[in-house]
Amino acid sequence: MKNLIVANWKMNPASQKEAKEIFDATRDGVKGLGQEIVICPPSVYLYASVFGKGIVSMGAQNVFWEDKGAFTGEVSAVMLKDLGVEYVIIGHSERRKYFGETDEIINKKIKKSLEAGLKIIFCVGETEEERSENKQEEVVERQIKKGLEGVNDILGMAIAYEPVWAIGTGKACGVEDAKKMQEFIRKLAPEARVLYGGSVKSENSGDYIKQAGANGLLVGGASLNAEEFVKIVKSAE
Ligand code: PEP
Repeated sequence: MKNLIVANWKMNPASQKEAKEIFDATRDGVKGLGQEIVICPPSVYLYASVFGKGIVSMGAQNVFWEDKGAFTGEVSAVMLKDLGVEYVIIGHSERRKYFGETDEIINKKIKKSLEAGLKIIFCVGETEEERSENKQEEVVERQIKKGLEGVNDILGMAIAYEPVWAIGTGKACGVEDAKKMQEFIRKLAPEARVLYGGSVKSENSGDYIKQAGANGLLVGGASLNAEEFVKIVKSAE
């Protein structure tokens, strides 16, 4: 089975021109490789005419939990689906931290996105403080149970284990710790694909898949460098 390798560009780059350059170089670089690639740019760059679809799938970094209406600034799952977007990241720690997203909000977003036919990349993970108190399993279990409450079909869903202390810090999680948590997540959600995310680069990416047994990766900072991202994808081959 193909691994799922997701590029989360976050709020980068600053122009359409740069976005197209990164996109084109990534698409050309992964051509012919045997992995499933999803690029999640800022929503303004999602418009199909900017990128076109094909070798890679497009994903959104966020979604709202209603279909339409008076929700200024928001984008709904049906709108994303209509645009040709296939995936959506839900529950990223930056959204939990800066936008106050709770497990309940995340649950509503997951349900609405599934209803619209989007595939979900559901992020979970503990903070540094929670890990120092050895609460990582408790936290991840709560996030998964509450996030998936009332969700019956999780077949094909990706759950990304992203320890918050490893995101954008260069402090990647040890392969053994990642493996342990991935196994824990598989017990809670046996039908989901389990990804690892947090300071992934080409030097450690293969280990998370081949040693820790992840079904793929969620890559932030390193995905903005197409050459490095392609190396990451190749490491999963
Ligand atoms: C992320 O944004 O999901 C992420 C894992 O970021 P980084 O790879 O930069 O740590």
